[in-house]
Amino acid sequence: MIPAGFKESLACSSDRELEPLIDKVLGDRPLDFEDGLMVLESKNLSLLGALADHITLQRRGERVFFAVNRHINYTNICDSKCNFCAYYREEGDIDAYTMSLSEILGLADEASRMGARELHIVGALNPSLPLSFFEEMLEEIHARYPEMGIKAFTAVEIAYMAEREGVSTREVLLRLKRAGLTCMPGGGAEILGERVRERLCPEKISGEEWLSIMEEAHSIGIPSNATILYGHIETYSDIVDHLLRLRDLQRRTHGFQAFIPLSFHPEKTGLKGVRGSTGFDDLKIIILSRLIFAGEIDNIKAYWVTLGPKLAGIALRNGANDLEGTIIEERITHAAGARTPTSLSKEDLINIIRDAGRVPVERTSTYETVKVYD
Ligand code: SF4
Repeated sequence: MIPAGFKESLACSSDRELEPLIDKVLGDRPLDFEDGLMVLESKNLSLLGALADHITLQRRGERVFFAVNRHINYTNICDSKCNFCAYYREEGDIDAYTMSLSEILGLADEASRMGARELHIVGALNPSLPLSFFEEMLEEIHARYPEMGIKAFTAVEIAYMAEREGVSTREVLLRLKRAGLTCMPGGGAEILGERVRERLCPEKISGEEWLSIMEEAHSIGIPSNATILYGHIETYSDIVDHLLRLRDLQRRTHGFQAFIPLSFHPEKTGLKGVRGSTGFDDLKIIILSRLIFAGEIDNIKAYWVTLGPKLAGIALRNGANDLEGTIIEERITHAAGARTPTSLSKEDLINIIRDAGRVPVERTSTYETVKVYD
C-alpha cells in the first residue's frame, strides 16, 4: 500500500521528467531499458533513494539480513588471467598458493567454532585440481558441519571443472549437489554483454554461458546469487542491459536469492586509466537494482567490502535489505587494493543495520531466519 502523501512528497522534490517513472514504480509496473537509463542519468539521488526505500519496505519490510559466514579462497592460481583481476597468480609465482583439503577443513572448523552458518568458497581456474577434489571437500565439510550452508563455485569455475573433466556442466552441478553444495555465489557475471567482456575477460565464459549455467543450477534445485561488476569500462546501457538479462532469467527460474553490485577497484589490475566508481555511482546502482528487480529478486545486498561499512549502512535506506556477512578473511578485492576492513564482527553488522533504523536478521545461506535482533 502506498502511504498517504508519499507520492505528493516525492513530487515536491521531483524533476518533472521523473514523474512517469515514479508512477510506473508506484503502480507496480516493471521498468524497461529507457527507464533504467533515466535512473542512471538522473542526479536526483534523494528522490530515487526514497523511491527505492519505499519499494524495499513495501516488499521486504524493516528486516535486513546478514550472515555469520567465512570466505575461503582455496587457490589463486588461474588459467584465465582476466584483465581486471589483481587476485590471480601463475604457477611458480612467489605468492601463488593452493590450499590442501586439511587447510580448508581447518578454516571450516574455525568458522564453525565462531558460530558461522555459511561458508563462501570460491577460487580460481587451477588446472591441477580435479573435480574429485571439490567433491571430497564438500563431502567432508558437510559431514563434519551439517548445520553450515556451503555456497561455493561461480559459474565460471563450474564451466572449467566440466571442461577439465570432459563432462557436461549439468553433470558437474549434480555431482557437487550430491556432495553437499547448498547454493552458488553470483561471481563471474561481471558485465554480461560481449563488447565489455571481450575487453575485461576474453578467456572467460560468455555472458550467455554464465546465464545458461545459472539456469541449469536453478533447474536442479541449486539457488544462487547474481552480481554485477561496475565502475570500469562499461556504459550505462551495459549496466541496464545486464540487469534486464538477469531479470529475464529470474522470471523463468526464480532461482536468484540475492543481487550484489560490486564496485571495481582499479589499483593493481591490468585496466589502466579507469577511475572506479564514486559513492554517488554506488548508491545509484543499489537504487537501480531495487527499482528494476522490485519483487522479482528479493534481496539486494550492500557489499561492505567494496562500499565500505559507512556507505553500506546508507545503502540500507536506498534499496538494499541485505548486508554482506562477517567474511573473516576477504582476499580478492583486497588484492586489488581495497582499503576497507577484511572482516566485520557480528556486533558491527548488527550496529550498522540498527543505525539505519532497520531490524537485523541473521540468516542461513538459503535465507532462513536464524535469529531476529529486535
Ligand atoms: S577473475 Fe577469476 S577467472 Fe579471472 S583471472 Fe581472476 S581468479 Fe581467474
